[in-house]
Amino acid sequence: AADQPADTAEPLPEIRNLVVIGGGVMGAEIAQLAAAKDFHVTVQEIDAAAADAARKRIEGLVKQWAKYQHADEQMLTKIRQQLHVTCDDTALSKADLVIEAVVERESVKRQVFRDVERLIGDDTLLVSNTSSLRVQRMAEVTSHPDRVAGLHFFNPVSRMELVEVVHTHDTDPRVLQRLLQFARSLGKTPVVTADSPGFIVNRVLFPYLGEAVQMTIEGYDAEFIDRPMRSFGMPMGPLELLDHVGIDIAAHVADSLSGVLPDAQAVAERLKEMSEAGELGKKSGQGFYLYK
Ligand code: NAD
Repeated sequence: AADQPADTAEPLPEIRNLVVIGGGVMGAEIAQLAAAKDFHVTVQEIDAAAADAARKRIEGLVKQWAKYQHADEQMLTKIRQQLHVTCDDTALSKADLVIEAVVERESVKRQVFRDVERLIGDDTLLVSNTSSLRVQRMAEVTSHPDRVAGLHFFNPVSRMELVEVVHTHDTDPRVLQRLLQFARSLGKTPVVTADSPGFIVNRVLFPYLGEAVQMTIEGYDAEFIDRPMRSFGMPMGPLELLDHVGIDIAAHVADSLSGVLPDAQAVAERLKEMSEAGELGKKSGQGFYLYK
């Protein structure tokens, strides 16, 4: 009842069927968590090879989850039955919620929003997990921007409690209510934020991460920076965290903040150079550290 808007007694339509577009680092984690929480989940990938990679990624996460939860075979079978990976778009017509988690490129995301909107029902919510793009830019290619919002999960999804629910000028308050309810049903703590660069967390976090990158530009060693920050009480060092997030993703976030924060441009350039050299962090085996 606390999740209902004050001005109406009408219950919010339930979310049962979820489609996650893109089964990469984030899409796979979101899908696995939602399936474990009993949602019916379809991950839609771009082609058969990407779908195979997503299946493997998800299977790894399911096994990790099973170990952590002491899950028995029956629970494992159930979660596997709740979760499908495909490269066709047939699940969209039954989706209550579509979460877009494809590459962080505005043109790609806008195309996904155009394509998806044609295939979903009137009550379906359409959200982006973007970390650095304006959600409004995706909403404006649709004919129902009122049902578009951001749902920004953090990496790793299974361990990070916070989810930012991002509203644009057009997002319907009932859409936000449904998303808040959905995030809570995943066991997360949602917070509503405006569609502004970095939302809340990255706007506050990036000056800290950026300073660490700035120190590497000045010639300091990654461990020289990370070790004291861990001893200070951070669960990971800032450069270790950037490797975990993905240097390409971090470059986009830094870039989106360059109009807001004074040093973000130099940091964005450094991160861009690293990603162009294939140093994407943990996922490519090298970033600020080597993972081979
Ligand atoms: P990723 O590169 O690991 O995964 C992207 C996936 O999308 C790939 O598997 C790719 O095959 C797929 N894809 C690309 N185009 C597609 C299309 N048209 N249809 C279907 N699938 C398509 O990226 P990621 O790190 O998972 O990031 C995804 C999104 O999540 C980005 O918007 C990013 O900003 C956001 N995000 C990332 C993090 C992080 O820490 N990595 C944290 C929060 C949010």
